[in-house]
Amino acid sequence: MPPPKDEDDSGGEEEEEEEEHENALCGACGDNYGQDEFWICCDACETWFHGKCVKITPAKAEHIKHYKCPNCSSSSKRARA
Ligand SMILES: [Zn+2]
Ligand SMILES: [Zn+2]
Repeated sequence: MPPPKDEDDSGGEEEEEEEEHENALCGACGDNYGQDEFWICCDACETWFHGKCVKITPAKAEHIKHYKCPNCSSSSKRARA
């Protein structure tokens, strides 16, 4: 019997370019996400950071609604060439 084909062949739009959490690199140290490490996302630039790299603990993060990384909170200008 033929294999089940549930895929849409009609459109050419595939949205698989979204960066998953697993593929993210720490914006501070450039390292990968570690399984047992705390990890936080900047609400402004959407960069992920190790908690330890930005000195955020899970306990602290609970009180943070919109986290801003050091880059975003320190500089008022958007330095993105
Ligand atoms: Zn890091
Ligand atoms: Zn940021």
